[in-house]
Amino acid sequence: MTTSTNDRMFLTMALEEAKLALEENTYPVGAVIVDEQNKVIAKGRNRVHTDKDATAHAEIDVIRNAGQAILDAKVSGRVLTIYSSLEPCPMCTGAILFSHIRRAVWLKNDEEGFGGYRKIKETMVFDRRFSSVKMVAEPLDDLKHQQETLMDKWADNPHNVINLRKASGK
Ligand SMILES: [Zn+2]
Repeated sequence: MTTSTNDRMFLTMALEEAKLALEENTYPVGAVIVDEQNKVIAKGRNRVHTDKDATAHAEIDVIRNAGQAILDAKVSGRVLTIYSSLEPCPMCTGAILFSHIRRAVWLKNDEEGFGGYRKIKETMVFDRRFSSVKMVAEPLDDLKHQQETLMDKWADNPHNVINLRKASGK
């Protein structure tokens, strides 16, 4: 299989996790960690509303679920890739740099939200760390549009904080 075929398969998997998150009335973001043999190590999705945990982003969830495999990769040099349906925020960007992940692929850049990966990388402050992670942003337009549709649905969801705020008259 070519790299792009694999990317499509694993980004589709991340998108499926994002759909589950939306069904659970939380931010539609999903993530998957895969090794160099294309073995799925872990899946994760946003659980901010589900778990009442502001730090429970999809990338944090999948890194936690990967558990021992992350520690093993630091010792063995095993190459891990993280696939996310949305560009990682500053918190998740930090988590990726701490997790021996060597490739970060996401479906949609997060311009208006809290996208942080590219902004932090551009500062060059953590250049040595960032230089060990290959970045692939928005490789597949059709899947990107599916993520956008999920985000539009989330914008209309009554559990969205913006809608809760409006409902409370603030
Ligand atoms: Zn995040």
